[in-house]
This record gives sequence, C-alpha cells and structure tokens, in this order.
Amino acid sequence: MNTKQYIALEKQYVAPNYNPLDVVIAEVQGVWVKDVDGKKYLDCLAAYSALNQGYSHPKVLKAMIDQATKVALTSRAFRNDRLPLLAEKLCTMLDYEMMLPMNSGAEAVETALKAARKWGYVKKGVPSEKARIICMANNFHGRTVTIVSFSTEDDYRKGFGPFTPGFDIVPFGDIEALKKAITPDTVAVLTEPIQGESGIIFPPNGWLKQVKETCEAHNMLLIVDEIQSGLGRTGRLLASSWEDVKPDMVCLGKALGAGFYPVSAVVSSREILSVFKPGEHGSTFGGNPLAAAVAMAALEVLEEEKLVERANELGKFAMEKLSVLKDHPLVKEIRGRGLWIGLELKPEAGGARKYCQALMDRGLLAKDTHHHTIRLAPPLIISKEDLSWGLDQVIEVIAQ
Ligand SMILES: *Cc1c(COP(=O)(O)O)cnc(C)c1O
Repeated sequence: MNTKQYIALEKQYVAPNYNPLDVVIAEVQGVWVKDVDGKKYLDCLAAYSALNQGYSHPKVLKAMIDQATKVALTSRAFRNDRLPLLAEKLCTMLDYEMMLPMNSGAEAVETALKAARKWGYVKKGVPSEKARIICMANNFHGRTVTIVSFSTEDDYRKGFGPFTPGFDIVPFGDIEALKKAITPDTVAVLTEPIQGESGIIFPPNGWLKQVKETCEAHNMLLIVDEIQSGLGRTGRLLASSWEDVKPDMVCLGKALGAGFYPVSAVVSSREILSVFKPGEHGSTFGGNPLAAAVAMAALEVLEEEKLVERANELGKFAMEKLSVLKDHPLVKEIRGRGLWIGLELKPEAGGARKYCQALMDRGLLAKDTHHHTIRLAPPLIISKEDLSWGLDQVIEVIAQ
C-alpha cells in the first residue's frame, strides 16, 4: 500500500479528531523517520517531547523486550518488582519524596488536581466541595472533561459541556491578577512553566518564583505541569529550575516513556501524596512493571547520554543560527529555551501550516502550533550536523 491508500483507509475508519500532515511513517531510527514510500524525514516535533531520547532507543527497547518476556502487567492489586525501583530513581533524580504513577499526561494532571482538592479539605480545612484552583489562560493540560473545563481554547471546549466547576482563570505571567483571584478556598495554582501548545510562551522572568512565594503566603500548592517542558527539553531536568522554583507537585509524562509506552507520574511530598488512602484513586495500568522498566531505562538514557546538557548547548546553537531570521519581514518573534523553539510568524505570512508543508517536502517534519508559530523540538539526541541541516531548511523556507 502507498501513502494515498493508507490515508484513504484512515479517513474511512479513524475518527477525524486530528488533521495530520500527510506523511505515513513506517520506520524510524534516532531522529529520522521513513515513510511508506521510502522517503526520509528529520523529525523536529519528537511527538510533542515524548521522544526526547529519540526513536527506538536501543537501551529502552532492550529494557522493554526483556521486561515484556518476564511480566508486563500485574495490576496494583498485587505488587511488582519494578515500580519501587522506578519510584526511587524518579524521586532521587528530581529530589521529591514520593511519586504516583499513571499512564497519560492528562491522568497525571487529574491526579494532581484530586490531590490538591483533598489536601485542601483535610490539611487546609477548606469546607467540603468548595475547593478552588487557579489556572492560566491559554493553558494546555490535556483533554478530559475536567481539564477542558479550565481551557480558554474554544476548539477544546465547544460542545463538551457541562464542565467541572471550581477553577479560576487568570492571564499567564500576571502576578497581580493571580493574587486578586485568591479566595480562602483556593487550594492550588496550576501552570506550565513555559506554555507549550500555545506557542512556546515565556512568562516574565521571576514570575514563577513570585507564584511560589504567593502560594506559600496563602497556604496553596503550586502544581507545575512539566509533561512537555520537563525531562531535559529546556536544557534543565525541569524547566521550573530555570526560575529556582521547586513546585509542590510536578506532573510528568511524555518523555518518561521514551516514545515506547505511555507513562506518567506526579511527584510530590509524602505529606501531599499521602492524602490518597487505599481505594481512593488508581489506574489498572498505572505503575505496571513494563511501564516502570521502560521509564527506568528512559531516565537512565537521559543521564548517561547527558541529554539535558546537550539540549542546553544545542539550543544555544539553534537560537544563534536562527537569529539570521530576526529581522525578516514575516517573522514576529523567535522564542526558545533548550531544544524547544517557537518561531512565530506575522499574520501576513498566512499561517504556519503551509511552511510546515514546505518543510515536509524538503524532508523535515515540524508542527504548526497556534496558527502562526512553527514549533521546533527535535529529539534531544540529535547531532549538531542534523540540527544544522534542519535549521537551514527552516531558514530557506522562510526566506523564499
Ligand atoms: C501533552 C500534554 C499534556 C497531556 O498529555 P497526554 O499524554 O496527551 O494526556 C498535558 N500537559 C502538557 C503541558 C502537555 O504538553
């Protein structure tokens, strides 16, 4: 079957909730993918940062195969010999006391929201059913009904109500607005450190620190969603650490499974995560031994290959190289940290999608985000040569 035939079949049988670029990937290695017609592409999306370790990393692949031949799933009705080791590794790496394993990113966010509400009732003394959580405009935290309840994106919400109450939305980066939104029943603030899906948007310097201080002053928890920004993407293990902030709870996902398997987690303190008593929260697949073995290998690869430092260095190289576009009449702004770069075009450019299409024709896969921004986020294992080639394609496509 060729590209056309696969696309026709997909259009017939798969719900149309995505509008992908018309490339049908059949084989992968490292940062390169090959489509069913044999054409090669450099991947500069990395599955929204789920592939920080690159496609089909041999070490993670081996861990996955080895574990699959032993035991893949026990459910947490029983214990397994992998989850405790992963928990210790993750908590040690990130300097937290405890973790709670789930599968998708949205489930990690839901877990953090439930923990914060329960913490509010049992520790802070908020009257039952009254807990409120402050969220940011233009956030992205996933697709469940509760999570889209506090989205400000029409597409994510339209037709999906009624929504979950208890959320207050303030502009991202506006500390005064956040302070005004606090009530005696506010139990937490939820934010991304840098907004990914809305176009790699940075808050003002020092804002996250002010949020943390405000949370401490008002006995509220700071929940930071590092599902896309975390595990090396920005050149630090957590993007929060650029601001010297240690959140009360961190949501992780995506690269925790190295592109092999959905693995997510919330890391936090014993005090906070101990609000969950047996039976109050869970997931059939969360913390399964296959997931734990994959995540363990995924974290080891980050360390052994120094991918965090690599993202930092290559990110600087990329931003410097892209600076030739700074004064281009179609370019509004180039924002980036580590290997997470948003190239925002002016409205007169006519949207980022057609540039992504042109890049695809040249053998580079990138994704438009929020209409006018091209997101560049290759796997962190990318070589300087491949990155340089990819950036040349971007520069040429925009220059034309
Ligand atoms: C991708 C993402 C999520 C949702 O993760 P899923 O695994 O798709 O549920 C949540 N928050 C952020 C910041 C993300 O980028």
